Formats: sequence, structure tokens, C-alpha cells
Amino acid sequence: MIKAVRGTRDLLPPETALWNFVESAVRDVFRAYNFEEIRTPIFEDTQLFARGVGEETDIVSKEMYTWEDRGRAASEKGHMLTLRPENTAGVVRAYIEHKLWDRGLNKLYYIGPQFRRERPQKGRYRQFYQIGAEVIGPASAGSESPARDAEILEMLATLLDRLGIAGWNLELNSVGCPNDRVAFNEALRKALEPVVGKMCVDCQRRAVTNPLRVFDCKVPEDQPIIEKLPRISQFLDEPCRTHFVAVQEILKAVGVSFTLNDRLVRGLDYYTRTAFEFTHGALGAQNAILGGGRYDGLSEALGGPAAPGIGFAIGEDRLVMSLQESASAEAVLHKPDMYIAPLGLGMNAEAARLARELRRHDLVVELGDESFRLKKSFELATKVGAKYILIVGENEVKADAFALKDLATGEQVSVARGDLARRIQGER
Ligand code: AMP
Repeated sequence: MIKAVRGTRDLLPPETALWNFVESAVRDVFRAYNFEEIRTPIFEDTQLFARGVGEETDIVSKEMYTWEDRGRAASEKGHMLTLRPENTAGVVRAYIEHKLWDRGLNKLYYIGPQFRRERPQKGRYRQFYQIGAEVIGPASAGSESPARDAEILEMLATLLDRLGIAGWNLELNSVGCPNDRVAFNEALRKALEPVVGKMCVDCQRRAVTNPLRVFDCKVPEDQPIIEKLPRISQFLDEPCRTHFVAVQEILKAVGVSFTLNDRLVRGLDYYTRTAFEFTHGALGAQNAILGGGRYDGLSEALGGPAAPGIGFAIGEDRLVMSLQESASAEAVLHKPDMYIAPLGLGMNAEAARLARELRRHDLVVELGDESFRLKKSFELATKVGAKYILIVGENEVKADAFALKDLATGEQVSVARGDLARRIQGER
């Protein structure tokens, strides 16, 4: 038997109703902040991620699905393609390719699958979904302002509250700018030198190539060493410090609570200044629902003009998991209002006519078949979870009134055709 590939999964009903509920709330909330949707391709030139995410990151060095294009033309030979492991690089590529700076400030969001060859576990998949948004544009359009950082964080708090996800925690840090990073990396290297021999192999590599990444380490034995390392907060220059303070002040003014976490450096190289994560207790080991930050140098790193930006990516799989923990999930699952049971030969056409009328009134209708006996129709109606069963037999058609039975209470009434939709809608 052929099964879904390890780390991938089928999203089945009724859970897919939760996914749609999340996505429609996302579209509503983001709209209020004037974000618009962008859809970029699922695969891109490998170079985009090497340059945009960073060669030294776990994503690029270990986790990408990459292959050589099989085109015949010489220009296609040896051309490497990659399934996108994240979407920010794709959005910024599109920003540059279509010269989106002509529009001033761009506020773009996306919803779609991403691919990383990680070790699968609960809440971690090889194909997973992200909901993300980016604010990018020339500094003259205000893209560098701490107001943008705070606005994005407040929007996320609003979204999580709207979805009914209680108990989230916003962790906030500033990772400074490349200037600060030089002095910080120097201090880190010095502090790591005498202790790195006792650390994991990944940290030994990071200490040489990009010491900042040591803070990504999850190996328990390394944690006491990491605790004693210098922190980026001690190395922020004046503009970065002022920016960070301003973000916090706006958050306090709008009543979004946060905690400072000076170990938060995030997995991607292109982040500058504000870095953040929202975590949720119900998720267990993989407790980050979303992460994001500022990436003021990314557009230039990809060959574009200076275009400061800030964005985030929500793990939709994990968001849905958090939602499943809360009571509100039940209310989202929509069962059929009615099962229509045609009773006797020639009744399929009458039932179809009735179903068509009721569906036009937005009722959810499941339709049976005239060959089913009444007992079987009742069984099927119960199985699909319909609230009512409606019998369409010869007598009913003649009277133009139909037997409507509440499957939970057993109560049965005869309802005229014209009253059916209103009656059921009224009880919803
Ligand atoms: P990142 O792009 O690494 O900053 O991740 C942003 C968010 O995507 C994380 O906070 C997770 O919620 C989610 N995420 C990242 N990797 C995975 C994965 N392999 N499976 C499920 N969700 C993931």
C-alpha cells in the first residue's frame, strides 16, 4: 500500500473546517490593517534561499528539498531548484522583480505550504503551512519606523484573541544591526573559545562560522554554558536602542503584553533589530506558534534597492493545534442542517428540486436516494450528523408540505414548502 510520505499528512474533514475558519479570520483581520494577498511560486531558484535565508542556517545547510532541473537547453543544465522552506525570500524577490516600491509601503500577506526536511514529530512536519505577512518599502514611506513593528505585533495579538487562543506569550528582543553584530560576534567568539570544546558539534561549527547561531542550540548539556555568554542587548548602538524602546512604548500604550527574551535570535540570518516569537503552553516541545522580525538588509542582499521591512510567519499547523485545545473549536464544525430522504420511485426529482431551493437559502443539505428504505435513510442521516431528516414521498408532494423530523428529539411536524427554509434558519 502506498502511504503519504514521512513528514507529510492529509488534512481531513472535519479538521479542514478549522483550517478554513483560521484562514477566513486571518483574511478579515489582515484586511483591517490594509494587508493584501500575494501568491509566490512553491519552488524557486536555490540561490534565492542561499542568499536570502543564509548559507549557515539549519534550513539552508540541512533541510532544503533541492534538485537539478532536467531541461535540455544549455541554460537549464545544472540549474538548481528548491521547494520553498519559507516565504519571505520569495516575497522580497517579487518585490524587487516587479518594482513594488512604486506603490510606497507594501503590506502583503500569504498563506501556503512550506517544505523543510526536519525530523518529524508532533507539531513538526516536512510539509507544513505558514500564514505570513511582510511590510516592505522605501524608508521614505515609513517602513523603518518602530510604528510598523508595533502595528504588526498588535495585529497578531488581535488575531490570536479573535481566534479564541488564550494564554499566548509574546517574547521580544532586538538583535541590533550589522554594526552591533561585529562587536557582539567578537565578544561571543572570545567567550566561546575556552568552552566550545565541551559543546555539541553543531555549536562547534557555529562558533567558527556564525557564533550568534549558538543561541539556537537546544542541546540540554550546552544550556548552562549558553546562559553565561554575553547578550546582544549589551551591544546595541543608540539608534537600535531607541528603536527598540519606541516599539515597547507603543505596545504598552495599546495594551499588548510582552516579555523580553535576550536569547531570542531566531533561525534566519537576515533579521535586524526587532525579533519576536509568540509561544503557547498547550503545544508542548514545539511551543512556537509564530516567529518574525525586521530584515532591513534583505532586499539589498538579494540585489534590490534599500527597502527596510518587517514580517512574521505563523505555523498554521500549530495554530490549528492550539485551537483544538480550546472549546471554541466545536462551534466551527458545521454539520448538515438537513438530510432529504426521497421515499419511493420517482421521488429523486422532487427531492432534488426541494434541495435546490433550500441550498439557495444557504442551508447545508445532504440528499439521499429513492432506492433507500426509510430505515436506511434514517441511519445515513444520523451518520452524517444532520439535525433534521425531511421525507419527500408522494403524499407530501401532493400536499406540498413535508414531514420534518428533529433527529435529536424525535419531534416530527409537517411544514409547508414555503416555510421550510425560514423555520430551519430560525433555529440555527
Ligand atoms: P520560521 O520560518 O522558522 O521562523 O518558523 C515560523 C513558524 O513556522 C514557527 O513558529 C512554527 O510555528 C512554524 N514551523 C516552522 N517549521 C515547522 C515545521 N517543520 N512544521 C510545522 N511548523 C513549522
